[in-house]
Amino acid sequence: MNEQHYAAIEAGGTKFRVAVARGRDIVADTTIPTTAPDETLGAAIDFIRSWGDVDAAGIACFGPLDLEPTSPSYGSVTQTPKPGWSNVPVLDAVRSELGIPAAIEVDVGGAALGEWRWGAAQGLRHFIYITVGTGFGAGLFIDGKVHHGMGHPEMGHIALERVPGDDYPGNCPFHGACLEGMAAGPAIGDRWGAPSAELGNRPEVWNLEATYLAQALRTFTYVAAPERILLGGGVMQQDGLIDLVRSKLVNQLNGYTTHDLLRGSVEDYVVAPAFGQDAGLIGAIALAMDAAES
Ligand code: ADP
Ligand code: ZN
Repeated sequence: MNEQHYAAIEAGGTKFRVAVARGRDIVADTTIPTTAPDETLGAAIDFIRSWGDVDAAGIACFGPLDLEPTSPSYGSVTQTPKPGWSNVPVLDAVRSELGIPAAIEVDVGGAALGEWRWGAAQGLRHFIYITVGTGFGAGLFIDGKVHHGMGHPEMGHIALERVPGDDYPGNCPFHGACLEGMAAGPAIGDRWGAPSAELGNRPEVWNLEATYLAQALRTFTYVAAPERILLGGGVMQQDGLIDLVRSKLVNQLNGYTTHDLLRGSVEDYVVAPAFGQDAGLIGAIALAMDAAES
C-alpha cells in the first residue's frame, strides 16, 4: 500500500479546496475562499505545513494556465479577468514554499486524470471529461495522457448551430453564443429568467439544453474519437438530462461513426463521472503521486 503523503489543491475561481492524503485517502482537508493570490496561496500552504511533512503536491487549477513545458512561466496563470491573478506563478509558489516536487494541470485536466486512474475512465486510452456548471470545461485525455497543445484546449468556446426559435444572444464576453455562452448554468438562468436548478418542471428548457450539449458532444466525437465521454457538473444534476443528451447525440450522429463503440450502447459512451464534485481534488492527488515518481 502507498503510505506516502500528498498535498492536493483544487484551485477554483471562488474557493480553494486543500487536502492532505495518505496514498489516495484524504486525511485532512479545508476550504479557503479565493481572494488575493498571496492570501489564498499563503493560507493553502499554511494548512499543508500545519499538517506535517508531505512528499509531493498536485494542483488542479482554474485556467488559463501556461502549460508549455519549455516556457519560463510554466505553471503560471496567464491572462485572467480574475483581479490580481494574471501571471501568478501558482506551481512555483507551491513548489518553492513547500520544497517538494509538485505538478499542475488545468482543473478539468486534473479531474480527467483522477477519473482515469480511479474512476469512470479506468482502462481507457482516449476519453473526454466534461463539467457543465458555472462554465463549460472539458479535459481531453488522448493516448494515455491529458492533452495539451500550445497551452490547453478551450473546448467550451466552440461554435454551435442555433436552434430555430431560440433568440438568446449568449453571455460569453468573447463570443456571445459559443457553447459556454449558450449552455452553461448562468446562460440557462439568463435565458429562462430563473436559476437553472429551479427549472426542473420546464421540459422545453432541458430539450433545448440537451440539443446544444449533443451538438458539442457530436463535434468532440468527430474531432477526437474518444472511447467515452464523462459528462458531469452542476447542470448535469438535472434529472433525466443525461438521457436526453444521449438520445439526441445518437440522432445527430445518425449512424455515422468510425468505430463500433457508439453502435454498442450510448449508456457506456456518455457516462457520469465517478467522483462528482470531488473530481478536481482527487485529480490533484493523482498529480501529486505522479510528481513524486518523476
Ligand atoms: P462550478 O462550475 O462553479 O464548479 P457546479 O458544477 O456546481 O459549479 O455548477 C453550478 C451550476 O449548476 C449553477 O449554474 C447551478 O444553477 C447549476 N445547477 C446546480 N444544480 C442543478 C440542477 N439540479 N439542475 C440544473 N442546474 C443545476
Ligand atoms: Zn466563448
